[in-house]
Amino acid sequence: MPAESVDGDRVLAFLNTLSGRPTASPVERLGSYDALVTWAREQHLLPAAAAERLQAQARRHPQQAAAVLGRARELREALNALVTAIDAGRAPAAAVLDTISGALASAYAHGRLVPHDGALQWISTADAELDRVVWEVARAAGRLVVSDRLARVRPCAAGDCGWWFVDDTKNRSRRWCDMKICGNREKLRRFRARQQG
Ligand SMILES: [Zn+2]
Repeated sequence: MPAESVDGDRVLAFLNTLSGRPTASPVERLGSYDALVTWAREQHLLPAAAAERLQAQARRHPQQAAAVLGRARELREALNALVTAIDAGRAPAAAVLDTISGALASAYAHGRLVPHDGALQWISTADAELDRVVWEVARAAGRLVVSDRLARVRPCAAGDCGWWFVDDTKNRSRRWCDMKICGNREKLRRFRARQQG
C-alpha cells in the first residue's frame, strides 16, 4: 500500500476515535493519555518501546499528559472541521488551518532527516517527550492534507455513524465506512421499514 494511503487510513482512524458524532452522545475512545498512546501503537505510529516510555513518563507527569491529550483532541477536531468543510465544498476556517499548521510546525521542530534505504527518512528526536504521540499523528495528517486523497474523504451515509473513509472507488460510489457494519445495518433498517410500511 502506498505510504500516503496508510497515512490517510491512520488519520481517519484518528478522527473516528470519536464515534457517533451525529448523535447526542458521541463515544470518546481517547479517554486518557494512556489510551491515546495505546491507540497510536495499534496504528503503528509509535514503536512498542516508545509507547511504554511515554506511558511511564505520563505516570510521572500526569498534568502535562492531560494537557497533551487536550492538544491531541484539539488537532483531531481541527482535522474533523477540515474534512467537513472540504466535503461540503467550503474553504476551511482560518482557525482550523492555524491549529493544523501549528501542530505540523511543532512536529517538524522535533525531528531530523537520516539516511534510509538509499533515500532519507524523517525521524522523531523527541523520544521521551509526551507530545511525541501528537507529533506522529500531525506528520501523518500533514501528508494527507496536501495529497489529492483529501478530496476523497467522505462521511459514512448511516445517520448515526459519522465515521470518515477515503472513497477510492473510480466513480466515487462508496457510501459506508464498513459495508459489514453500517451497510448491512442500513439495509436491515430499510427492509424492516418496508415490512412495516
Ligand atoms: Zn458507518
